[in-house]
Amino acid sequence: MKILVINCGSSSLKYQLLDMNGEKLLCKGLVERIGIEGSRIKHDTTGKDRVIIEEPMEDHKRALGLVLKALVDENHGAIKSMDEIGAVGHRVVHGGETFSSSVVIDDEVMKVLYECAELAPLHNPPNITGIEACQELMPSTPMVAVFDTAFHQTMDPENYIYPIPFEYYEKYKIRRYGFHGTSHKYVSLRAAELLDKDIKDLNIVTCHLGNGASVCAVQGGKSIATSMGFTPLEGLAMGTRSGDIDPAIIPFIMDKEGLTFDEVNEMLNKKSGVLGISGLSSDFRDLEEAAENGNKRAKLALDVFVSRVKKYVGAYAATMCGIDALIFTAGIGENSSYVREKICEGLECLNIRIDSELNKVRGEEAQLNKDLTSASIFVIPTNEELMIARDTLELVTK
Ligand code: ADP
Repeated sequence: MKILVINCGSSSLKYQLLDMNGEKLLCKGLVERIGIEGSRIKHDTTGKDRVIIEEPMEDHKRALGLVLKALVDENHGAIKSMDEIGAVGHRVVHGGETFSSSVVIDDEVMKVLYECAELAPLHNPPNITGIEACQELMPSTPMVAVFDTAFHQTMDPENYIYPIPFEYYEKYKIRRYGFHGTSHKYVSLRAAELLDKDIKDLNIVTCHLGNGASVCAVQGGKSIATSMGFTPLEGLAMGTRSGDIDPAIIPFIMDKEGLTFDEVNEMLNKKSGVLGISGLSSDFRDLEEAAENGNKRAKLALDVFVSRVKKYVGAYAATMCGIDALIFTAGIGENSSYVREKICEGLECLNIRIDSELNKVRGEEAQLNKDLTSASIFVIPTNEELMIARDTLELVTK
């Protein structure tokens, strides 16, 4: 079966078409600037040259229409007709407490998705828009929702309840949800495969380090703790997000600087993290280069980032009583030898010993420990789209 995977943002849309017979990637692409002047699609079909499609796209339905047209195009497409698409898998950020696994989308599911939108006001509405546009264009094709939060629904209450009045959990569902679940699940399953062990027997710490970043403790294949919380703002210091800070800082700054709720939210989400500390960039390539050239705040930003990751690795080693495998994934985790080395530095007490030579790898699957009696350390490029396609296939063929 061929499955189309859709990841819809507010003005962007990523897609992949996979042939699940052999899990082959047929096409992938990115639509940018939906609803903004200069809309375009970067469309790549396996084995063919990239094409850029520049056309006005006033909304997601128009964008999706053009994507479907590109998929069946005689020259740069991969299929002859839309009927070849057996199902569509949609990435949905927030599934609240209702969804602990992926689901086939029906009217009832759509109703709950609208309810969950309140919990993820930036992310869920564009996800819903993408689903509805697809439903209009492909009314008889089954659709599945795969949630970023679902993998973490196995956490025990002690790891998801915040120490604030319990009534806020009851009234507003304020609790830790965790995100990047599809990625943490994919890389932990892949690590078990690489180790040729049953995932049920493994304690794994997965570090998804991209612009958004989170760490997860995966015990026996289940997420038991993760660093992101009620929103993706908690946990690690990120590209532009603060991660954990003393909550008292927020009213203090609001008072001193006269900031509104929206302004303080913007400060914590868009102007903080390594960008905020360095005053330079949220991109780790820029920071590493600047630090090498003596920029002290760039170095400090990297140090803070690394120190936070180490803190979580240590915490999760304690939570699981040891680590069998430590995984690095996403933009920084897959590419930055510097960050990986610094995170592992001084963690010999946790049986973590990274090999500098093996750690030179970039963007490909690799084991980074030479000493096989130590915990296994891997770079595993994440593949959320494949995970979404697998879940979609499983649900629509059930
Ligand atoms: P997201 O999907 O959350 O937007 P990504 O997983 O694409 O993020 O990761 C983006 C981050 O990866 C950026 O901070 C970028 O600097 C970093 N990155 C990409 N390539 C490298 C590299 N070669 N060295 C260091 N960092 C890198």
